Amino acid sequence: MRYKAKITFHLEPTKVSLMLRHLGFKEIEDDTMQVVNVYTDVKEYLILLDVLQNNGIQYSEKTSVVYSKKDLDEAELLVMAPYHYCGYPQPEEDNGYKEFSYDMDSVCPTCSQGAVQNNYLRVKKLKMEKYQISALHWLYEFVVTEELKKLLEKSNLSGFEFWPLIDYKRGIEYEGFFQLKVNEIMPPMNSETLIVPAKHVNSCECRKRGYILEGQIKYDRKVIDSIKDFNKTEEWLGGGKTTWQKIIVTKKVYELFVKEKIKGIQFYPIIIMTKIIHLNCDYLFTLFIERNDKDRLIFKEGVHCQ
Ligand SMILES: [Zn+2]
Repeated sequence: MRYKAKITFHLEPTKVSLMLRHLGFKEIEDDTMQVVNVYTDVKEYLILLDVLQNNGIQYSEKTSVVYSKKDLDEAELLVMAPYHYCGYPQPEEDNGYKEFSYDMDSVCPTCSQGAVQNNYLRVKKLKMEKYQISALHWLYEFVVTEELKKLLEKSNLSGFEFWPLIDYKRGIEYEGFFQLKVNEIMPPMNSETLIVPAKHVNSCECRKRGYILEGQIKYDRKVIDSIKDFNKTEEWLGGGKTTWQKIIVTKKVYELFVKEKIKGIQFYPIIIMTKIIHLNCDYLFTLFIERNDKDRLIFKEGVHCQ
């Protein structure tokens, strides 16, 4: 796991060229606004920040996590997230698709989130390009090709079904493309998962609006035995106008997609928390182990037996 910083700043092109070339970065030509993407564990990152700070140059920095193949290969549960988008649900105006495809009686009366899909999704034009799986904007719902549908049906994976997609203009079902519909709901995440109120959004009491995830999702080890291979999170995340349940898959799904070279989605590892209770001692210790970070034992709480 590495961290990558996106550093944005303004500077005259000539000065930028000199500085960035010296550090081995590529400048955006003829533009005063520059964007540099750099891993935070290389010396060039520290030098760049040093140069910017010592010259009084204002900059913004956004850091993201980059997982290695080893991180993903070792994960027991993963988030399956969109990488490519193939279209918008229809009709687009005023969220009209919700009336067609969702049970509006199921939403929270305060924040209007939490709608349950009860009808097929309509799409104007599917742009799958070279991908076997893609997502619809706004929804966190996946579309698969006939080929991938057959592959998943042949597998022993569980927790999904296929629904037709409707060609919005012609009012008939698309041939060769289907919605991968996930219905199973995960148990709640481990309480150490960082879910925080989103800025500038009024959070709702139902917790389906106004919350975002920071960092990795964590689940208790005991949940692994009782879940399907495809699941939705119980938590609704995303903060603002529209929120979603993320898709959580088992290692078996990840391995099949890697083996068959399925493109169009991305995976992120989930931390599995193992609870160990030692009873034969003066103290009752509860320890949590973060499996993806084996060298760390996190002391959670210690309660005296008497
Ligand atoms: Zn609500």
